[in-house]
Amino acid sequence: MEDPTVIELKEIGLKVTPQRQAILKLLNGDRTHPSAENIYHELLKKFPRISFATVYNTLSRLAEAEKIQKLDIDPNKKRFDPCTVPHHHFYCKLCGKVFDVVYDALLPANINPLNTKNVDGHQVDAIQVNLKGVCKDCRRKRCGKTDTIIVCKRR
Ligand SMILES: [Zn+2]
Ligand SMILES: [Zn+2]
Repeated sequence: MEDPTVIELKEIGLKVTPQRQAILKLLNGDRTHPSAENIYHELLKKFPRISFATVYNTLSRLAEAEKIQKLDIDPNKKRFDPCTVPHHHFYCKLCGKVFDVVYDALLPANINPLNTKNVDGHQVDAIQVNLKGVCKDCRRKRCGKTDTIIVCKRR
């Protein structure tokens, strides 16, 4: 059986190289929404001569082909998500982590794409919400306990 990374690269018309295969393997199942820089630094351990352009171009091609998602949630850099099922994201402005947020939890009934035919004449296929704030780990670090967050905020 052919390696799934080979099939995927061929599908989007990219030459199969060990570097590109490694990018796909690294992304597979990754829930941290890494940046191109993160992936590049990880790959350098195995491929000391890989260029950042190779990593970035491969990620861009994968995103164009909708094999992965390119996220605009981080103000400093693009982040990548191998999960292409619609879901929302939460960005922590302190640690920079990006978390998945359950899709249905945030949709007001009147903009649910499943029962909305159009908005201002536009057909809605998907809604993606970017949330920003302080994640629970950072809240805990700041305040000692998560339930003291209100006290901390007022200070
Ligand atoms: Zn955080
Ligand atoms: Zn995600």
